[in-house]
Parts: sequence; C-alpha cells; structure tokens
Amino acid sequence: MKTPSLIPFPKEYRAGTGTLVLTGIGSVSVPESLTDAAELFIRNMHIAKTSSGPFISGSLSSDMKKEEYSLSVTEDGISAEAGSAAGFHHALETVRQMSILSGGKIPCCKVSDSPEYGWRGFMLDCCRHFMPVGYIKKLLDAMSLLKLSVFHWHLTDDQGWRIEIKSHPELTEKGSLRKRHTCPERMTERKYYTQEEIRDVVSYASERHIDVVPEIECPGHVSALLTAIPELGCTGGPYEVETRTGIFPDVLCIGNEKVYDVLDDVFREVSQLFPSEFIHIGGDECPHERWDSCPKCRALMKREGLSSPQELQWYFSRRIIEMIIKYGKRPTGWDEIANTYPERTLDSGLVIMLWRGPEVASSVLSSGNDIILARSDDGAYIDYRQTEDEYEPGNLGITTLKDSYSSQLQYDSRGGKGRIIGGQGNLWTEKILFPKSATYMIFPRLAAIAEVYWRGENRDWSDFSDRVKALPLLLAAEELEAGFNIP
Ligand SMILES: [Zn+2]
Repeated sequence: MKTPSLIPFPKEYRAGTGTLVLTGIGSVSVPESLTDAAELFIRNMHIAKTSSGPFISGSLSSDMKKEEYSLSVTEDGISAEAGSAAGFHHALETVRQMSILSGGKIPCCKVSDSPEYGWRGFMLDCCRHFMPVGYIKKLLDAMSLLKLSVFHWHLTDDQGWRIEIKSHPELTEKGSLRKRHTCPERMTERKYYTQEEIRDVVSYASERHIDVVPEIECPGHVSALLTAIPELGCTGGPYEVETRTGIFPDVLCIGNEKVYDVLDDVFREVSQLFPSEFIHIGGDECPHERWDSCPKCRALMKREGLSSPQELQWYFSRRIIEMIIKYGKRPTGWDEIANTYPERTLDSGLVIMLWRGPEVASSVLSSGNDIILARSDDGAYIDYRQTEDEYEPGNLGITTLKDSYSSQLQYDSRGGKGRIIGGQGNLWTEKILFPKSATYMIFPRLAAIAEVYWRGENRDWSDFSDRVKALPLLLAAEELEAGFNIP
C-alpha cells in the first residue's frame, strides 16, 4: 500500500497490514481531559457511536512533550498516547487525514510524532478586506488538519478597525467603514467583529487546540483609529479611514496622555476576550514626521530627555509593553520595535516577529529576545505572487511554494539568549477582496509552512512536492476549494 500523503508528514511512520473502516465507533475509552478531542473527531468524521465496532482508546503520558503523540491503527480501532489533549487531538487529525486521503480505508500503521516548534502560525489581515466569521472557521478547520497552532488575527489598520471595544463604540462605528471601496456593493456590510463573534471564534479555535493571538496596531497604521478619535493624532485631523494602501504620515501622538488612556481601555478588553498568553502590538512602518513638528511630542522629548524620534517610539513601545504585562500577557510585535532602540537591552518577555532580513534576526537574537519567523523575503508572505506569470494574482514580490518550504531556520545569535520559537505565514489582503481569492493565496503555501515548523530541518522538498498534490482533496473536506496552484 502506498504511504499516505500526510501533511505535515509524521516524524516516524511504520506501515502495518490491513485497513480500518470507520462507519461508527463502538467504544471510546479515554480520560476525562481527552473526551472533547474524541467527540470532535467523531463529529468531524460524520460517524456515530454504535453498539459494536471499532474502538478509540487514549491515554496521557507525563514522559511526552505537550504536543507529542504515538498512534496505533489496527483493523479493530485506534489507540493513541499523548503528552496532552493537544497531542491526542493531533493523533486523531492524523487518522482523519488518512481517512480522507484513502476514501475511508485507513491504512493500519504505527506513528510517533511531535513538532519541532510550538508556534506554527497563520496571520490573516481582516482590515484591508474584511473576512466573515464562517470563512475564518473553515480556515481554522484546515489549520487543525495541518496541525497549525496559532491564528494571528490582524484586527486594526489604516483601512479598518475590526474589533468591537465596548468602552469606545466609536472605534467600530466610525473606524470600520470607509467612504470608497474597490467593490462598492460591499460598502453596506457590517465590517467588524462583535465581542460575541470573537468569543465564538476563540472557542472554536480552542476546541481545535489553536491559540488566537489578536493584533492591535500602534503607533502607526492607525488611520481608522484616528478617524474615530481625532484628538489622538498630532494634528487633530480630520482623518479618514484609508481607501489607499501604503504607509501614512498620521500616527498616534506620543506626547498625548489620552492616547495611553484609550489604549489601556482597548488592551484591557482585548486581554479579557482572548485567553492567549500573547497580544501583538504591531509597531511596524511608523513614520516620525508628525512628531517633529508637534508641541506635545516635543515637550515629552524634552521632559524625558529623548534625543531622537527613534527614542520617542521606544518610549511609546515601553509603555505599551508595560500595559500588556500589567494585564498578564506577553507582548509580541514586528521587528521595528527592536530596531527603534537597538542599543538598549530589550525586555526579555517581548517576542519579536521577524518580517525583514536576516541581519535584523541576528541583532534581535543577540539582545536575548525570542523570535517568530515571518520573513517577507523568505517564504512567509503568502500574499505575494506564486509564480512569475504576469497574470498571476498577488502583491509585490514572488513567494513560490518551494520558497515557503525552504525557509531558513538557523540563525547566529552572537552569544545571545534569544531563541526561535517558531514561524508563520502572513496573508495581507490589500489585493484580496473575497474569501475564495484568499484560499487561492493561502494554499498550498500554508501547508508547506505547516510542515517546515513541524519537522524543522528534517524535511524533503521532493517528497513534499509529491505529497502536496493530494492537498486539494484534504481541503475539499473542509469545503475549501479555489483552484489551487500546485506546481
Ligand atoms: Zn504629537
């Protein structure tokens, strides 16, 4: 029997003889903490519990790492041992992949498996173009099947504020709608997530052992925020929710205390909504020109003895980092946060998301910060075109499937204590209006990224490029179809 085209392919796979056909489940024998994972598997397989038939048995092992599992499939049933409920869920997702790939005749086998990196992520920009909750849930299903662990939800930007904040309803009332839209019929839609919808997404993800990390951009990329509360900008406005893409000069006024009051309200509500350990605070692409001519910003610089706009941004970052820590969370941000004040040792709790070149990685690692890899020049930007074809859709550069599969994982830390805790694929949506267009951009490249951070250096492009041909079949099971670009 042909080895199944599993993605990510397990660390150890040994074929047995015979097949298991699951038309029902005769018995489930698992500890209380694994019940939810077993129930989800039965639901996802569209089968029922029956009076006789194959068994599912599960157990926990304190010798195993959190996401590690071993799995045995025989003609009589499925047994798995795991380090936690997440590991047991992964074991059952391996079985579900085999079932989809084999048309229900699951090959008997033994599998031992565990990921190399804890952060195996996907970022979705829901600001440039809004993506509905129903679509996000389908993506979470696909992420679960590919054993991804983090959904990084980009919720605020120049082109829209997408998260309801009860203490500042103007943020969504004014900040979520724009005057013009590439696709005018979409202008009347509600363009933000209510807190109830966010709780629903978080709970759906949590059931699939996916952590949802929210991103609130500051101090740049804030046109939508300034449109809602103009006094937070250096000039006082008026401002408009952006209909163009790019980097814009109007950013938060660092010298205005009201900025910190509003952000404190926002981060308090965000920290209550998302159980994740992490909150992403943006920090990228912030022009400094407004600060130079702002009396409030200049007064702050004088008072605090800050000599450059970089130091002013670092002052802001420190206050936001302290705010996140106060709410019991760990801050993460784009690599400019490290670059605004590289000579100062960064807070060791801050995790830097590396989106630019390898030089930035070395300087961040040597300062002792943990890193998440998301390099635009190294396979992580899956909004870029997939081929050189002039009619290929996508933004800016080219990220081929092989680029995504070949991401660099080893960096020189120059004696620093920082480490790479994982990586992710980023989908910016400036040029992506609809979910189906998003699906075309996300896959197959996200499958490559899932395997990179699951298997680490132990990966094989020619083997993957053969297995990935079966990806449309796997995704069809999640009702995700979009004419994939499989080379
Ligand atoms: Zn100012």
